[in-house]
Amino acid sequence: MDNKLYCYRHPKTETALRCGNCERPICVRCVVQHPVGIRCPECARPTKIPIFDVTPVYYTRAVAVAVGIGAAAVIGLLLANALLTPLGPVAYYLRWLALVGVAYLMGSGVNLAVGRKRSRGLQWIAGVAVVVVFLAVAPTMGLSLNSLFGLLALGVAVYLAVMQLRI
Ligand SMILES: [Zn+2]
Ligand SMILES: [Zn+2]
Repeated sequence: MDNKLYCYRHPKTETALRCGNCERPICVRCVVQHPVGIRCPECARPTKIPIFDVTPVYYTRAVAVAVGIGAAAVIGLLLANALLTPLGPVAYYLRWLALVGVAYLMGSGVNLAVGRKRSRGLQWIAGVAVVVVFLAVAPTMGLSLNSLFGLLALGVAVYLAVMQLRI
């Protein structure tokens, strides 16, 4: 009886190796190192990692949550704005700080809503949502992008939302 194994891709090449997934014999030329053992080239082909596999359902959910958080944030920020006004000049910085906090919540909220999945699309949703919140509250809160501080603060806010969904 012939117990010898031959590579399924090179029928004349003897081998002692088998793919850890489909168990077909493979020769050293075909073997692919994989974190969980050796694989044949077919089984080693990259599959989509679930965390990056974001279906339209998740985008719908992300947008819904972003709109919800955004609406709550606008109301919250405008209420906070009224409370901060008596603080005088410091209030300006606290208002920006509040927006940065909202942006952080936006990133976390969207991330949670999609089961911690990540994608560029989700980053865009969170980033744009933060900008929309900013545009909605800026006139009332007196937040302006006419200073380096304002630009940096909005940049930090968007970054904090987006980086939680980074790939
Ligand atoms: Zn295989
Ligand atoms: Zn082979």
